[in-house]
Amino acid sequence: MINEFRRGRLRQDQVCDAHPELIRAAKNIGSEATNSCPICAEHSLRLVTYVFGPRLPAHGRCVSTAKELNMLNARSEELTAYVVEACIECRWHHLLRVLPVGRGRPRRVAASS
Ligand SMILES: [Zn+2]
Repeated sequence: MINEFRRGRLRQDQVCDAHPELIRAAKNIGSEATNSCPICAEHSLRLVTYVFGPRLPAHGRCVSTAKELNMLNARSEELTAYVVEACIECRWHHLLRVLPVGRGRPRRVAASS
């Protein structure tokens, strides 16, 4: 996607189509990313983690603290966390990583790759 954009095949508004809810979550509870946005080069990138699984909302549970993530990890069900990078400046977003959560896993930080 980024490469396509750099080659000029995609316009910026075709790349930066983040859902308003995602941008709101990024602004309010997102943690600051270390790198800058690859599209607008502003330091406006935030990381937002959504967890999906049984007994969680269909659109996922937005997780903002390590404590919340640890509580979800303590569940017996198999859950999946999606870590999304989102730029609050140009609304670019990108799925950074997918992590297994739940099943009573020991403490794990969302940032582990
Ligand atoms: Zn940006």
